[in-house]
Amino acid sequence: MGVNALNILVIDDQKHDFRLVARALTRNNKTCKVSWAKRGEDAIGQIKRNSFDVAVLDYNLPGMDGLETLQKIRAMTNELPTIFITGSGDENTAVRALKLGANDYLVKDSTGSYLDYLPNIVYNSYHQLQEKRLRQKVSDALKERDERLRATIASMDDLVFVIDKNGDFMSYYQPPGKNPLSATPEFFLGQSYHQILPPHVSSMIDGAMENAWNTNEPQQFEYPLDSARNKFWFSAKLTLRKDKYNQFNGATIVVRDITEIKQAAELLQSYNAELEKRVQERTLELTKANKRLQELDRLKTKLIDDLTHELRTPITNFKLYLDLIQRNKDEEKFEQYHEVLVAHTNRLEQLIEDIVKYSQMPSGSASFSKIYINRIATQVIAWHQPQTQMAGVQLTLETDEENPVCFGNEQQLITMMTNLVKNGVNYTPKGKVTVRVSSSESHILIEVSDSGIGIPKNELDLIFDRFYRGQQVGQLTIPGSGIGLALTKEIVLQHNGDIWVESKPNEGTTFYISLPRADLKGMELKPVMNQNRDILINFDGSNHFH
Ligand code: ADP
Repeated sequence: MGVNALNILVIDDQKHDFRLVARALTRNNKTCKVSWAKRGEDAIGQIKRNSFDVAVLDYNLPGMDGLETLQKIRAMTNELPTIFITGSGDENTAVRALKLGANDYLVKDSTGSYLDYLPNIVYNSYHQLQEKRLRQKVSDALKERDERLRATIASMDDLVFVIDKNGDFMSYYQPPGKNPLSATPEFFLGQSYHQILPPHVSSMIDGAMENAWNTNEPQQFEYPLDSARNKFWFSAKLTLRKDKYNQFNGATIVVRDITEIKQAAELLQSYNAELEKRVQERTLELTKANKRLQELDRLKTKLIDDLTHELRTPITNFKLYLDLIQRNKDEEKFEQYHEVLVAHTNRLEQLIEDIVKYSQMPSGSASFSKIYINRIATQVIAWHQPQTQMAGVQLTLETDEENPVCFGNEQQLITMMTNLVKNGVNYTPKGKVTVRVSSSESHILIEVSDSGIGIPKNELDLIFDRFYRGQQVGQLTIPGSGIGLALTKEIVLQHNGDIWVESKPNEGTTFYISLPRADLKGMELKPVMNQNRDILINFDGSNHFH
C-alpha cells in the first residue's frame, strides 16, 4: 500500500483488544507505530504531546467514555482522523460519534472480523486527511497568489484587459478612481474588441498581436481616444497567452492613461517651438541690427572721405590765392583774389556749421513734442525777410485756416524749413519764394517753391546726396556746402515724412514735404457709451454728461 510510517494512537482500556488492533494495523505495514492509551484522559495527554496521524477510539472506557473523549479531542483538533469503535447493537452511539466529528466507525463483533476492515479504514481516513491538507495548501497558495495579483493590479494605475482567443473580453480591471472613459466592466465583458473599440485601436491591437506572435515578445503601442469633451492618450502593452499546446489563447493588455504626460509633452513642444521662433526672430533682429551697424560704419567712412575732400577744396584754393597774392603785387588783381579768398572762407565756415548741425542731429523720437508747423514757418520767414528783400526776392507764407500740429523736434524742423527757404532764396536771382502749409486729415503738406534757376533733370536724383552741389551753382559761385538737402531729408525721415522735388530749369523749383499729423481730425471728439448715461469725452479729457 506504500504507506509511510503512521503514528497511530489506540485508546482502549483492554490490553488484549489493544494488542489485536495493533497487530491488525501492523500486519501489512511494519513501519506503523502504534501507541496505547488506556483511558480518555491519558489519550488527551498523549495527543497534546505527540502528533498522531490517526486515533482509534473505543467507546467503552472507564471514567470519561469514548464520546466524551471524542468531544475533548475535537475541542483540541479537527485534524486528527478518529475511528470510533462501538459494541455490536450500539449503532446509535456510532451515529452520535459521527455527529461529534468521528471520521468513521466500526462495530466490534464477537468474531473479530472488524479487525480485518480496520487497517483500510485507518489508512483511508489518513489519506483523506492528507488529501484535505493538500487541497487546503493548494487553495491557500491559489488564494495567496490571487491576493498578490489583486494587490499588484490595485497598486498599478493601469487598466487591464484580458482577451480570449476569439477576441472577446474575458475580464477587465480598472483601478479605483480611474475611469477616463466612464465604461464599466460589464460594458466590455463577453464583447469582442473589434465591436467595442474604435477601428484605429482594434487595428493596432491586431497588429500588436501579429507582431507579438512573430517575435514572441510583448508589444507596446500608443493610441488616442476622444470622449465628448476631452482627448485621452493611452499607452498599451500587449502580451499573448498560449495554451498548454503552445497555441494562441488570447492576450492580456495593460493600458496606461498617458494623457497628462502627452499634454505635458505637447506643452513642452509648443514652448520649444515658441522658443525656437523667438530665437529666430531675435537672430533676424540681430542680423538686421548688424547690417545696420555695417551700413552706419560704411556711411561713417564715406562721411570722413567726403569731408576730407570737401575741406581740401577751400584749403587748396587758400594756398593757391595766397601764393598768387605773394607773387603778384597788382592792386586790381589783389581785389579779385581777396574776393575769392573771402568766398572760400565763407564756404569753409558754412561747411563747418552744416557739419556741426548734421552731426548734432539726435536720432530717435525721444526729444519730440507737439509742434505747430505754421509757427515755425512764420519764424523762419521772418528771419529771412531782410536778406531776401535786399536780394530783391519776394518771400511769402500761405497757410490754410487749420493750424496743424506735428509730433517732432522743434530745432530740427526749423533747420529743415530754413534749408529749403535759404536754397529758394539762394537759387532765385530775382523773383519770389513762397512757403505754403496745407493739411489733409492725416498729413501736413509743406511746399517751398521758387521762380529761380531750377534744377536740371539729371541732377534731381543727386541733390539729396551729402556734399552734392549742382554743376551750375558751382560755376555761379553761389556759396554752399552740399549738406543742406541731405540734412533736410534726414530730418524728414526721422519724422516719418516724405520729401520730393519738382523743378524746371529757368522756371523754378518746388520742394514738397509731407509729415504725419499729430492732431488727427477724427480724434477730436470720441463718444463713449455707458450703461447708465451717455458720456461724451472730449479729446482734451473733459467729460460732458447728457
Ligand atoms: P547747397 O545748397 O549747399 O549746395 P544743398 O544740399 O542745399 O546744398 O543743395 C544741393 C544742390 O541742389 C544745390 O547745390 C543745388 O544745385 C540744388 N538746389 C537745391 N535747392 C535748389 C533750388 N531751390 N533751386 C535750384 N537748385 C537747387
